[in-house]
Amino acid sequence: MLDSFKHQGLRKRLVALLKDKGISNSRVLAAIEKVPRHLYMDNSFVSHAYEDKAFPIGADQTISQPYTVAVQSGLLEVQPGESILEIGTGSGYQTAVLVELGAKVYSIERQRSLYLKTKMLLDKMGYRADLKFGDGFRGWPSFAPFDKIIVTCGAPFVPEDLKKQLKVGGKMVIPVSQKAGSEKMIVLHKQSEDVFDTSENGDFRFVPMLEKRNL
Ligand code: SAH
Repeated sequence: MLDSFKHQGLRKRLVALLKDKGISNSRVLAAIEKVPRHLYMDNSFVSHAYEDKAFPIGADQTISQPYTVAVQSGLLEVQPGESILEIGTGSGYQTAVLVELGAKVYSIERQRSLYLKTKMLLDKMGYRADLKFGDGFRGWPSFAPFDKIIVTCGAPFVPEDLKKQLKVGGKMVIPVSQKAGSEKMIVLHKQSEDVFDTSENGDFRFVPMLEKRNL
C-alpha cells in the first residue's frame, strides 16, 4: 500500500493545521503524522484525505475529522500498554492512532460490512487490535475492565455497561447528543465503583450511536 512522500508532506501540513487549531499533545500529533489516513478512505475521497474534514466510508457512516480524533485522543491521555475499548470502529483510523500511541485496543462496530472491511485493512497495515461485530451499548465484558473507553458515535446517554466496564481511576471520553448531530464531548473520570467526575469539552458532530447489530 502506497504511502508516498506527497502523502507524508500533506500529513505534516495537517499536523501544522491541528497545532494552529489548538492541539498541543505532541504524542497525539506524532501519531497523526504517522498514520496514513488516505488508506482508510474510499478511493473517491483519497485526494481529500488530509483535509480536516469527515468523509463518507460507506454504510452511511463517516471517518472522523482529524481534529476530533486529536481532541478525543488527547482527552484520553493514553499511556503505552493501557487497554482501551473503542465503540465505533468505522474506518479503523482512530483505532490505528490509538495503537500508535501504544494502547492495546479493543474496538466494536455494529455495521457488519465496516467490521469486515476494517478488520482486513488493519491486518494488512500491521495494526494489531481486537475487533468485534456487536453492539457498543453492551461493551465487551470478557476483556473488561478497561483503563480507558472512547466512544466515536453520538450517544443518547452514557451507557451503564460502559461505566461498569471502566477501571476505577479510568477515563471515558464520550460525545453525548444534545440533539441529532450536535454532541457535547463529555469526559468521565471513575473515582469509585459508582462515583464519576464529569467535565464538558466542547461541541462536536457525530453520526448517531444506534442499538443492536446491523446485519
Ligand atoms: N472511529 C471511527 C468513527 C466512525 S463513525 C473512524 O475513525 O472512522 C462511528 C461509527 O460508530 C460508525 O461506523 C457506526 O456504524 C458505529 N456505531 C454506531 N452505533 C454503534 C454501536 N451501538 N456499537 C458499535 N458501533 C456503533
